[in-house]
Parts: sequence; structure tokens; C-alpha cells
Amino acid sequence: MKTLFKIYVLIFVFIITSIIYLYVSLDKTQGILTDNINNLFISQAQEMSNNIQGEIVHYVPNHLYKILEKDIKLRHFLEQTLSPMINQSFQYIFVLYKDKDGSYRYLLDGSKEDKGEFSEKLNVEKKQWNSVYKNQKTDIFRHKKFATLWMTYLKPIVIDGKTEAIIAIDFSTKIPKNISEVLTPLNNIFYYIFIAVFIMLLILLYQTILNLKTKKESITDPLTKTYNRNYLKEILEHINIEKYQIIMLDIDHFKNVNDLYGHNIGDYVLRDIASLIQNEITSDDMFIRYGGEEFLLFIHKEKKGLDQANSIAENIRHTIQQHSFDYKESMLQITVSMGITCKPNHFKSISDAIKNADKMLYIAKRDGRNKVITQIDEDYVIDPTTQNLGINEIKDAIENSRLFCQYQALFSAKTGKITKYEALVRLKDSENTTVYPNRFITTVLHTNIYNQMTKEILHTVFSKIRQNRVAISVNLNFSDIINTDIFKIIIAKLEQNADFAPWLIVELLEYEVLEANEIFAENIKKIRSYGVKIAIDDFGAGFANYNVFQIIPIDIVKIDGSLIKNIDTSKKSKIIVQSIIVLTQELGIDTVAEFVHSKEVYEIVKSLGITTIQGFYLARPQDDLLIEK
Ligand code: GH3
Ligand code: MG
Ligand code: MG
Repeated sequence: MKTLFKIYVLIFVFIITSIIYLYVSLDKTQGILTDNINNLFISQAQEMSNNIQGEIVHYVPNHLYKILEKDIKLRHFLEQTLSPMINQSFQYIFVLYKDKDGSYRYLLDGSKEDKGEFSEKLNVEKKQWNSVYKNQKTDIFRHKKFATLWMTYLKPIVIDGKTEAIIAIDFSTKIPKNISEVLTPLNNIFYYIFIAVFIMLLILLYQTILNLKTKKESITDPLTKTYNRNYLKEILEHINIEKYQIIMLDIDHFKNVNDLYGHNIGDYVLRDIASLIQNEITSDDMFIRYGGEEFLLFIHKEKKGLDQANSIAENIRHTIQQHSFDYKESMLQITVSMGITCKPNHFKSISDAIKNADKMLYIAKRDGRNKVITQIDEDYVIDPTTQNLGINEIKDAIENSRLFCQYQALFSAKTGKITKYEALVRLKDSENTTVYPNRFITTVLHTNIYNQMTKEILHTVFSKIRQNRVAISVNLNFSDIINTDIFKIIIAKLEQNADFAPWLIVELLEYEVLEANEIFAENIKKIRSYGVKIAIDDFGAGFANYNVFQIIPIDIVKIDGSLIKNIDTSKKSKIIVQSIIVLTQELGIDTVAEFVHSKEVYEIVKSLGITTIQGFYLARPQDDLLIEK
């Protein structure tokens, strides 16, 4: 679009310069032409005056006035040599002398009509005439008073050093008129060219506006006035993805809106949601209608850090949830779900990064909607060159016992002793390289393989507990608990290992359901009835939902790593953590600080009264249990 605009500007500038150049050079040509024609007439007058002088001096070598006064015949004869020179261009040709009083009087006159009599006085421009008389040099001057006279050429007749008379040749105004008549066609040609070019310019301008408008239309969605997929295609070619985070947004249960209120209302909702989103972003961000009720946002990263897209997404989610969509008599309550890729440059291509946001969105939908799921797996060093494993590779790994757990030890803040472990699922690919869950979990979500995987993990963890008699936690999602098949697997495993169930801890991820979900609460209670402890993970991330304490019984709260990680530098993080500790102590719940990566952080969390500490500072995940000597 910008290049097109530049080309048009260039064409405009080129045409305008051409016109100016044409105009200036025409003016110059006119000037040169006029000068040349003038010079032609002047040199003709010069020649004529030379001839006249020659003739006069030939017949009257001296005492011009005295001789001509007496010799009428000679006068006639000489006047007849002047007469033929008079024509349309040279209107009058005559010779005057200056009397004693300084007045100019006729000696000879070449005119046929209104002829000046000998010695008849003629009123002349005295200044010029006197100067020629005195200086004895030819001169030419322009007339202002006479309508028919243009210029007069004066030549003194000097005999023996004395000015005897002056020859005058009057140029008619017909000369300049003729010159301008010659130039008129030239001028006309210029004006025609000018008009033609001007019309061309107007057409070009019209075309440009039309083109830009069509171009704009082709990249704009007519309903929401946001960009459409054509625009996405365009920006993908030159966008620097490092500068953005990607949000994929989808309206929850939008089909219901159409079904219940009609397509028209559906359209209003789409339009209003688009404008609500627009209000939450800046002009540096890009907003694209990606599909029917799906929107794609490229959030421009400022120095604010990794969770920028997340906080914008939460604002959008909150705004839309709070908004009442008021149409005719219907008041609609709408929610949206979003998936975020916060490090798009860690993906092989932008389309992979978009796909990842889409996957996160899928998880948000699966986990109850009205949610934002961000992919921030700080635990795993994501290698941009690696891709997610294919479903067959994962299946193969599970079937060939290449699915396994690593265990990270958790330490008592008081005694510094290991109190439990967190089981972290991994698998080995066909080349025996360890693969982290970020590369395989999303691929198998909603498939039987995921269920099988859950079963395998529980089996492995229970074997570990049986062997070592230690407490181990496993991670489960909100959706795992409400999924009938997975719940059955969990209960079956608990039945099989009833003796060891009290050693198991279930860490719940993405539990932030806004409405109390009865099945969820019931299933958790059922799991807990086997003596299993319930921990909630990442507490304090996003919008902490205290409601969770009302819905389910909780034994442990794991405070979100993003709060712990910078607790030594951020006063706010420290205050939030303190408030969580006050709350959990009141409720009699244990706390875990994860992501403890340094001595400074360790000392602070210890001093705050946290129960348990986990992090690279104390222990990294490893293939076997870290048993203290
Ligand atoms: P989910 O929460 O899983 O996203 O459910 P959903 O109903 O929003 O999703 P689904 O993909 O099943 O339905 C999307 C609906 O959006 C179906 C389609 O008719 C509607 N839709 C797509 N584009 C437009 C549009 O331009 N105007 C209107 N009114 N409806 C649209
Ligand atoms: Mg959809
Ligand atoms: Mg939808």
C-alpha cells in the first residue's frame, strides 16, 4: 500500500515538474524569438538609415539646411529615396534639423500623406533627440504616448564634426503585434498540453483514490471494520515477530446467540465486541478478524515484559464479560476465550506461532471458556528448531515405555529437609532425547492417548510411592477432573493403590472456574476421600479467584512462580505473597513457593512463613528421587 502510494506521488511530481519545465522553456523561447525579431527590424532600420545618410551626404556634402532650403528639386528627389522605405513596419521616415531655439523642424519627410512641410516644426521627445544631437550616436527609444508608434530609431548626420540633422525611422506597433501573432500558436500549443496534462492528472488522482479505496476495502472486514485475512497475508511477509505477542480470541457459544436471537443480532454482537477490543489495544497493535467469530491480535511488546499480552487479554475478557449487549429488548451477556503465544520467535514460523495460540485457545475452551491461557513454560528451554511430536511418535513412546517422570524435590522451609516431590512428565523420542510436555501434551489433548498417558503417569507415580514411601504430586487439569473417562481412570488407580493414596498429592492447574462447577467439586471431594491431598497450582497468576476456596477443599496452595521469581526486587510481588500467606494461614492451608532460583529469593520466602520451598536453587528435576543422606 505504501509503495503504491509512493509510485503515485512520484508520477505526480514528475508531471508537475514537466509542466513547470515546459512553461519556463516556452517563456524563454518566446523571449529569444522576440529579441531575434526585434534585432532583425533594428538592423534593417540601421541599414536604411545608413543608406539615407549616404544618399544625403552624396548630394549635399555640407550646409544641409541652407542648400535644401533653396533646392526644392533636390528635396523632392531625396524624399523620393525615403518614400519606398515606408511600409507597414516602418511608418514614418524623416529628417529633422534643430533650429536656433532648440526646436526640431523638417528637412525631409518620406511620407506621402500628412507630409511635414520643409521647416515645419515637429514636437518630438526632446530628451532623446537632444541626446542624439549632442552625443552624435544612434539611439532607439520606445513610445508611450502614441497608439500606433512602437519605437523610433534616431541616427545623427554629422558633417565636419557638427550634427547637421537627425534621421528618424518610426517603427509601427504592427511589429510587436505581428511578433505576438507568430507566438500565439506556440502559446496555444502549450495551453492545450497544459489542459491535457491537467485532465490526465485529475484522472490519475481519481484512479489513485479509487485504487487506495479498493485496496483498503480488500484488507478490511466490512462488518467489524477490522483488518481481514488478506491483511494478515500481507503483514506476514515483513512483520518482525520478535516484537509481538499473539492472542487468538474466540467468542464463547456464539452459535447460541445466532440461534436464539437471529443472525442480525449476532452481527451486532460481533461488531460491538470488535469495538470493545479495539478500545483495549493501541495503534501499535494489530487486530484481525481471523474467522467467523475468531479474532487474531498481534500485541506490540514494550518493555513491560512477558505478560503484556496476558494482561491485555485479561482486560479484554473482563470488559466483554462486564458489558451488557443491549439490542431491542434483549440483554445479552457474552464471554470470550483467548489463547496466547507470548514468545512467537520460539516457533519455526509465524503460522506455527499462530497455531500455538489457537491450541491455547482450545485449552481455554476445554477448560470452561471465559478464560485466557498463556503459554509460558519457563521450566522448559524451548528450542525454536524443534517441533511438536506427531501423534504416532507419542503413541510409540508410550507403547515402548519411553514415557517417564522426573522428580523435583520440595523442601520444608523450617527444617530444610525434603518433604515431597513433584512428578514431571517427560518422554524419550526415537533418538532417546528427552522431550518436555510442551512438545507433546497439546498434540494428544482430547485423544485416547491423553487418557492412556494419565493412566501411565499415575501408575509410575504409585510405583515410586510404593517403593520409597514418599509424598509425590502429579499435575492434573480442571478438565481432567470433569472428564468422565479420565476421572474413572483416576478413581480406578486410587482403588488399586488405596493404601498409598494418602501419599499422593493432586496439583490442580487451570482451576479458575468462575461459576462453581458441581461436578468438579464433587469429583475433587471423591478423590480426597481416598486421603489424597489437593494442591492448587499457580495461585496468584492472572485474576486470582478466591472462590476456589469455597468450592473445593484445599490442602496446599502453590504460589505462582511469577510472584516468587522476582520477590527480591518487586515490592508488589512481596506484598501479594504476604497477603496470600495471611489467607492460607487463616484457612490452615500449607503453602509452596516455586521458582526459587537464588539465595536471595530463598531467604525472603523462608522469612515470610512459607511452608515448603521448591526451585532450582535447592534441587532440579531429575530422573530419580533425590534421597537425602
Ligand atoms: P465455542 O464457544 O466453542 O467457540 O462455540 P461457538 O458456538 O462460538 O463456536 P462455533 O464455531 O460452533 O460457532 C461459530 C458460529 O459463529 C457459527 C457461525 O454461524 C457464526 N458466525 C460466523 N461468522 C458470523 C457472522 O459474520 N455473523 C454472525 N451473525 N454469525 C457468524
Ligand atoms: Mg469458533
Ligand atoms: Mg466461538
